[in-house]
Amino acid sequence: MIPVTTFKGRQVALFGLGGSGLATARALVAGGAAVIAWDDNPDSVAKAASEGIETADLRGIDWSRLAAFVLSPGVPLTHPKPHWTVDLAKAAGVEVIGDVELFVRERRAHAPDCPFIAITGTNGKSTTTALIAHILRSSGRDTQLGGNIGTAILTLDPPKAERYFVVECSSYQIDLAPTLNPSAGILLNLTPDHLDRHGTMQHYADVKERLVAGSGIAVIGVDDSFCALIADRVERAGTKVVRISQRQVLADGLYAEGSRIIRAETGATSEIADLAGIQTLRGSHNAQNAAAAIAACLAVGVSAEEIRAGLASFPGLKHRMQPVGKRGEVVFVNDSKATNADAAAPALSSYERIYWIAGGLPKAGGITTLTGFFPRIAKAYLIGEAAAEFAATLGQAVPYEISGTLERAVAHAAADAAGDPKGACAVMLSPACASFDQYKNFEVRGDAFVSHVKGLDGITMLIDTESGGK
Ligand code: ADP
Repeated sequence: MIPVTTFKGRQVALFGLGGSGLATARALVAGGAAVIAWDDNPDSVAKAASEGIETADLRGIDWSRLAAFVLSPGVPLTHPKPHWTVDLAKAAGVEVIGDVELFVRERRAHAPDCPFIAITGTNGKSTTTALIAHILRSSGRDTQLGGNIGTAILTLDPPKAERYFVVECSSYQIDLAPTLNPSAGILLNLTPDHLDRHGTMQHYADVKERLVAGSGIAVIGVDDSFCALIADRVERAGTKVVRISQRQVLADGLYAEGSRIIRAETGATSEIADLAGIQTLRGSHNAQNAAAAIAACLAVGVSAEEIRAGLASFPGLKHRMQPVGKRGEVVFVNDSKATNADAAAPALSSYERIYWIAGGLPKAGGITTLTGFFPRIAKAYLIGEAAAEFAATLGQAVPYEISGTLERAVAHAAADAAGDPKGACAVMLSPACASFDQYKNFEVRGDAFVSHVKGLDGITMLIDTESGGK
């Protein structure tokens, strides 16, 4: 845990006692702050109270005595409208911050030079975050991985020199971290997402820009127009910018040429890594993630050799295009996180010949945007409520069967793939649907896929299924 000492002896109110909120309350108490915590959920309040954390309805407290108000990132700060606690804080002139800001202040107070890499973007955050942490760890560095990726930042070990922090930041966390200043900050890409919480695309982009604007070195993917403008603006403001592209040759920066990542610097180019053969980094979207990870690692002093070794051994992230098993030339891929058509597209573009397991609870539009990938699909195995709708979209273009259940889909796809005339192919769960008709969530669906694959005769598993395969 990172005790938050920067509010020692002062009073702080906190709203939101979910996992990270409770961890934040504990860290503030451990650092000597007087915390008053609250949540709309009485169970969460009772849990905090049972640990000795002071709780009170924040409508009834004296806000003028507060040094800060700490809000959980899940609670609206601005859109669709500010939470009532935010209105109270504003009225009393109390600053509103989140757990990432508390970390940043702690680092500044105790270990300002400790390497800190922060990652944001619309897509690829978790992959890039996990990849950077893997490269650092496999090079023997003391590495802490947390933030939006799942481990609350204040539950990590405290900042100190020679300890590396790799932190995934959602826009909500950036919005609550006014002095965010990572050694290297990554903005991968920007496409419309979560606009319900940010109002407009411009506001969403402005929030994300703050992460790189405050960075020592800013690593920015310039393949979309929002990020390209941000890179220019941040550079004009005097920050060193490393541009990343998966589509264009850059005069300065890191770009992908096929599977090769090229570094261009003052007119000279050199290959820094080749992703060919790294199953967990297939696809052009992963070239963007890998190039950004490489740039950030170089920025904090990791050698090219150490980076190449880390890339080659990256185990991938669970449920995101993860190769989980192999039988002969057939690879079995778990992409359960693809809960809509857009999210399934990168996986479908990454394999030439696919036995595709799709379906579940369909989203608006179904799979109509995926027709460009249909020539790659040897056969589709449709499950869940979406089966009939997806069958209609596939029509005459792609052979399919209505498998109904995931278990049957895996068995049939595995049998068909074994007899594939071309040999090398993928059996892939990339459902383009939510899971809730048949599973609790996409994780449970992905785990079910893995266990069905594991049950196949002659399979070699590529992940450690005992530890969950992370
Ligand atoms: P996030 O943490 O931002 O949600 P993840 O790393 O978990 O992103 O990846 C989720 C999905 O997003 C992947 O399965 C893939 O389909 C897609 N994806 C990953 N990286 C990128 C990228 N750089 N650009 C576009 N899509 C991506």
